[in-house]
Amino acid sequence: MKSLFVFVLTAFFLAAPAANAALNVLTCEPEWAALTQELAGDLAQVSSATTALQDPHRIQARPSLLAKARRADLLICTGAELEMGWLPLLQREAGNARIQPGQPGYFEAARFARIIERPTALDRAQGDVHASGNPHLHLDPRNIARVADGLTKRLADLDPVNGARYAQRNTDFQSRWTAAMARWEQQGARLRGAPVVVHHRNLSYLADWLGLQVIGELEPRPGMEPTAGHLAELLETLKATPARMVLRTAYESPKASEWLASRATIPALELPYTVGGSPGAKDLFGLFDDTLSRLQQSAP
Ligand SMILES: [Zn+2]
Repeated sequence: MKSLFVFVLTAFFLAAPAANAALNVLTCEPEWAALTQELAGDLAQVSSATTALQDPHRIQARPSLLAKARRADLLICTGAELEMGWLPLLQREAGNARIQPGQPGYFEAARFARIIERPTALDRAQGDVHASGNPHLHLDPRNIARVADGLTKRLADLDPVNGARYAQRNTDFQSRWTAAMARWEQQGARLRGAPVVVHHRNLSYLADWLGLQVIGELEPRPGMEPTAGHLAELLETLKATPARMVLRTAYESPKASEWLASRATIPALELPYTVGGSPGAKDLFGLFDDTLSRLQQSAP
């Protein structure tokens, strides 16, 4: 009797958060979970497969993640091959027809964004992890706005009863986002043209948006770990062409950037990269607020 009671109670609590939510949403990365929360509020129950402290190119699909994929009405990922190493397996193993490629329950942000750094055939042959163009598209806030429009339509397709509410929330989000972008662009104006070194090309969209000039990368090739030889070459380059700072993200090891920065006597700066990557990056607005304030502090 006691075990039945515990079972019923557990079932009640497991079901409780979903009771008000029209959609069960799983996202590949935290930025899309945050965007879904902006657009759907309590109409969706949202969780993310990865955190800001995990490399989104490569994660282990644990059984708990598989269970979430099995229940999801909508799976939201970046696409552009970012999750190539783990997502196809997750979709296959989940046994959930709704979230398969081509289904309305699978949404790829890259299809709605402006994609940069599309490689030539030569780059692909050299093992570039960004063979479909650069997938780290969320760090250009203009892409966030584009994806928000696409996602709003998809949410309404899947949950037509609440279509007007998603549209209203998007209108509200877009107006707050446009105002915030103007503020961030003003804050970043002094950084325009600043030469920087990055760990991986996951900051290309941020650099493109703010006009930072990326003059070196710690990785010898996108997706390859920094090597001693490559870092030594980079240090030589910086003697002729100095950089203002070395940038890395919350999920990358600080070792290579600290090494280079201390020898080049410039600051090494960690950026949150996505929601949850720093105490300030609590949502999408906090992500850019914190990123801009860190950049400003390091390059006054
Ligand atoms: Zn990448």
